[in-house]
Amino acid sequence: MDMFFNCPLCNHNKCSKDTDNKTNSTHYNCEMCGGYVIQSGYYEKVNLDKLTAFLYYNHEERNSEHPNKTKIYVLGSDELLTEYKERYPNSNLLTSEMVENWYPKTFSDKVDLFLLNLYKKTKYMGEVIHIDHIEQGIAFFFDNHNEEISEERDYHINFFNSYLRKQEFLSNEGAFEEFCLAPKGYQRVDELQKYKSSNPNVFVSMAFNDNTKSTREAIRNGIIDAGYSPEFIDEIIHNHQIVPEMFRLIRECRFLILDISEPNYGAYYEAGYAMGLGKEVIICCSKESFSKEYITDEEKRYQKYLKPHFDIAQKQILVWNDEKDLTHKLSEWIKAIIG
Ligand SMILES: [Zn+2]
Repeated sequence: MDMFFNCPLCNHNKCSKDTDNKTNSTHYNCEMCGGYVIQSGYYEKVNLDKLTAFLYYNHEERNSEHPNKTKIYVLGSDELLTEYKERYPNSNLLTSEMVENWYPKTFSDKVDLFLLNLYKKTKYMGEVIHIDHIEQGIAFFFDNHNEEISEERDYHINFFNSYLRKQEFLSNEGAFEEFCLAPKGYQRVDELQKYKSSNPNVFVSMAFNDNTKSTREAIRNGIIDAGYSPEFIDEIIHNHQIVPEMFRLIRECRFLILDISEPNYGAYYEAGYAMGLGKEVIICCSKESFSKEYITDEEKRYQKYLKPHFDIAQKQILVWNDEKDLTHKLSEWIKAIIG
């Protein structure tokens, strides 16, 4: 029988743990956060509140029939990940960049995520979902690990909770721990899902030329490894004038990958369109371009045309060393952020 502990992230008391001294790592199984492994030294690398929210919103229920098929997030070295993948094939590397990339940037993004999650949990219209006070702290993105504001927790929770009810996203009946989507809540979920797609296509935006051929293949392999189907516009449409067709492909894709190692205006444009539709965009850049210094006068003069734009929509960038690294990291990012 499992012994239960308090989860170091969410503080829920239904958490089992298994420490491995050889790899200096602990494997937790928490009712609220799901399965995750942390290796020593990795606590310091990640914001614990954002990590808690990530796991709360993205974990998969434990597969009780086949426990080894449960998805496990690994915060540790590549070696630890390889070891875990042997025992749990659905293990997935999780880095602080992935957590930051996923974490909602605005208040309305947080509200939207909460509503989508509530919708996912609701089996029939009018169902009341019980979310207790501890869970609300996490679901409403309160910084539980920040001791300076620990006394403001109730204000934060009440504010978020009242907002949802005042906006009529939730039915007002019942206690503050009872959550039932109201018609306006469903309307918001419908708007958010309008351009969400369940198809496996992934649109790739980048500069297409002889120099970027190996990057293209590395991205293709990363997408395929993660279980999706890559779409390169020049392989689908041979007449580049067909812009409406390109828009359709972006509207229908599951998410978009933008590689900015070699800047291309068209690629930024495509990614911006996808973001406007509420689609996830993963931005990649080679380390060479990412850390290139512009030294000569000539380089400085053309810098604004040559230098990738890193300040895109406050997103974390997947920085890759070589093609092999790009394939590996991209596949892990997709599995962590998209699923
Ligand atoms: Zn937990």
